[in-house]
Amino acid sequence: QHEDIDLKRYIRNIPDFPKPGILFYDISTLMREPDAWQIAMGRLARQIAPWEPDMLAAVESRGFLTAAPLADRLGCGMLMLRKPGKLPGATISHTYDLEYGSDTLQIQADAIKPGQRVVVMDDLLATGGTLAASVTLLQKAGAQVVGASVLVELTGLGGRAKVDAPVKTLLSYE
Ligand code: IMP
Repeated sequence: QHEDIDLKRYIRNIPDFPKPGILFYDISTLMREPDAWQIAMGRLARQIAPWEPDMLAAVESRGFLTAAPLADRLGCGMLMLRKPGKLPGATISHTYDLEYGSDTLQIQADAIKPGQRVVVMDDLLATGGTLAASVTLLQKAGAQVVGASVLVELTGLGGRAKVDAPVKTLLSYE
């Protein structure tokens, strides 16, 4: 009966967060329910396994939540893509444009062996800016990015077209 469970029931919408006019998709209500969370991780594992990743790359910060259990299930490594100043040792950076201003992500310079198969993970795909930047950074660091995985995709924004890797999603919303 696990196969039939509609996980959308567990995603909460919060209007006007973090700014007026924005509808926020909140995955914390999915994480709170142990059965639903376990089903979600199982479904993600089945989506990602065929890519045969060596590493999962987790985007700060909600990407950490799915990448850690999935790396454990799939028996692969994981690494963090973080905001500036958080990672010790030599890092590689990529700065990308936002609607207002810009943002930077960093990776440890020695995180990836050349050509390793990497799947990048985040909680949600909206405009695609974050995942596109993550893929570019991983490629700079020597990765072969074989896929991108998110729990939630807001399809109306066409974000997946920006991402230079196949994208798989658990839950899609117009
Ligand atoms: P994008 O770069 O426009 O695709 O936005 C995706 C990034 O913003 C991800 O890192 C998300 O964690 C975050 N984000 C944007 N909208 C939401 C939302 O409604 N719920 C949770 N995270 C969001």
